[in-house]
Amino acid sequence: MLLNETCRFKLSPNGEQKRVLNELFSSYENIVRECLNKAIVMNVTSRKRLHEAIYGWLRTKYPTYPSHYIYTAITQALGIFKSYRRLSRKRSIKLPDIAKLDVILLDDTHLFWFNWGNIKLATHKGHIIIPFKVHEHSKKFMGWHVKGSRLLRRNGGYFLHVTFRKAVEEKRAEGVLGIDVNEKSIDLAIIKPNKVKFIKIDISEAKYIRDRYFRKRRAIQSKTSGKTKTRLLAKYSGREQRRINNILHRTSKIIANIVAEENVKPTIENLKYIRERMKYGRKMDRRLHSMPFRKVQSYITYKAIEQGLKPEFVKAKNTSRICPTCGEVNKPNGHVFRCKKCGFQANRHLVAAWNIAMKLPMWGASPLPPKAAHEAFKAEAERIVIKS
Ligand SMILES: [Zn+2]
Repeated sequence: MLLNETCRFKLSPNGEQKRVLNELFSSYENIVRECLNKAIVMNVTSRKRLHEAIYGWLRTKYPTYPSHYIYTAITQALGIFKSYRRLSRKRSIKLPDIAKLDVILLDDTHLFWFNWGNIKLATHKGHIIIPFKVHEHSKKFMGWHVKGSRLLRRNGGYFLHVTFRKAVEEKRAEGVLGIDVNEKSIDLAIIKPNKVKFIKIDISEAKYIRDRYFRKRRAIQSKTSGKTKTRLLAKYSGREQRRINNILHRTSKIIANIVAEENVKPTIENLKYIRERMKYGRKMDRRLHSMPFRKVQSYITYKAIEQGLKPEFVKAKNTSRICPTCGEVNKPNGHVFRCKKCGFQANRHLVAAWNIAMKLPMWGASPLPPKAAHEAFKAEAERIVIKS
C-alpha cells in the first residue's frame, strides 16, 4: 500500500535568488500560456501531439531554461484545457486564459533535488540552492520518498509543496471494525473472534454548527449585498469549515487509535450507496451534502493505511434494516431497531455498524452464533462525545 502526503515548506531565498525565481516564474507563465493557446488552437488533449507541435519551438525560444520546464508546462496547460473541456460540455464558459501564474510544477528527477534544509533547483542561471527551515511536523517525512513538488509564490513569499510517498506493509487484522457514519454520530462495532464492543461517537456538535451557520448564511444573503455579502459569506464559511474539520479530525483520530489498538480492519459503507439510499429531494439533499461522509472516509482511510490496515468499502444495502440475529428485513422506525419477527431490539445505528462489519467476506461466515450477537448487543455501548 502506498501512502502519499503533501507538506509545505517556506523557502528563504536571498535577494539574488529572488530575482532568479521571479524571472523563472514569468518565463514559465509564458511557456504555459503558449502551450495552452496551442492546445486550444489545435483542440488537443494528447500530450504527445502537443509536445510534437510546440516543444522544438519553445526550446529555441527559451534556450537557457532546463528543458523539463517545458514538459511540466505542457502537463499544466493540458490540465487547464482538459478541465475547460469538461466544464464546457455542461455550460458555456469563457476560453481559459492565464492572467498570472504563481505555481510551477517541478518533476522529481530533473528540476529539483530535495534535502532536509535546502533544495537545489535547476534554473536558467544554473543550479541554485535555496535554504528553508525544517519545522517539527515535517520531520515525520524523513525517510519517505520525494515524489513531485510545486513551487509557489504567494504574498511575496516562496513556498515548496512536496509530495512524499511511503510504502506501508499490510498487516493481518484480528477482526473488523464496522463504521456507520451519520449526521449526529459515528457508530462503531468492533468484532473479533473473542470480543464484541460497540462505541458511539457523538458528533452532534458538528450538526449544530452546520445548522447555525446555515441560518447565518441565509440571513446574510437576504440582508446584505455586493462586496459586504461576499466578504461576510467567505468569513463565515471559512469559520464553519475550520470548526467542522476540527471535530472530524479529532473523531478520525479516535477511530484510528481504535484501529491500531484492536488491530481491526475498518469497513465502511461505499459512498455511492449512501447517496442512493438517501435520494429524497432538496431538503434531504442539503442534509446529505452537509454530512461528513467523504471527509470522514478520507481521514479514516489515510490514518488506517498508516497503521497497515486498509479500509474495505462495502455495498451496504439495508444495513439499518437487517436483523442481526434472524436476518429479517425490517422497516426502519426511529432510533430503536425492533425486529418484528424475533423481537430483537437495539440502537439502529449500532445495528447498522454491525451489519456493515458483517458485509466483509472474511466475517460473512460469522464465528458468532445468533445468541452471541444477542449477548453482544446487551452490553452497553461506550459513548464518546466530541465538543468543539
Ligand atoms: Zn430478528
